[in-house]
Amino acid sequence: MPDGWSRSLDAGQLADRRTDIDFSIPLAQLARLAPQLAGGAGHAKGRAAFVREQGLAVVDLAVEAAVPLTCQRCLAPMVWPVASRARIAIVADADAAERVAPEFETVLAPGGRITVGELVEEELLLALPIVPMHADRADCGVSAAGERAAEETQKPFAGLAALLKGGAGPDEE
Ligand SMILES: [Zn+2]
Repeated sequence: MPDGWSRSLDAGQLADRRTDIDFSIPLAQLARLAPQLAGGAGHAKGRAAFVREQGLAVVDLAVEAAVPLTCQRCLAPMVWPVASRARIAIVADADAAERVAPEFETVLAPGGRITVGELVEEELLLALPIVPMHADRADCGVSAAGERAAEETQKPFAGLAALLKGGAGPDEE
């Protein structure tokens, strides 16, 4: 069942049977995430473990992914690593959601039906930065504009050389 993550499933039934679902989902096939991707490669991997807790259908979701994004400072590709773990209560309507204990995230699932893909996509979207940028500014522009960056770093040395030639330093006083 290679695409089990995209099937509509009955969360209550999965919880009562304590079903574990291992998944490997191509990131490009997650419709809401796809427009943010800087490339088609990459998978979200992990496990969705369904249990019944406090009368609720709960999924213990572990997701790992290396998400290709575009740095908004230098517009070069970058990779955002995600390693998330969440306990999500699956509820049928907003009233039920209000009664869920605060230690759970909640997902509204009309009729109690969900797909593992939806749960994983929601976790990934929560884990991604609103404005992705290279964490270290020194990484910016290295891959996309490497030559230009190298030229710019040489300029200060050229200026220093001219200064030394002129001999107009503060040492003359
Ligand atoms: Zn950057």
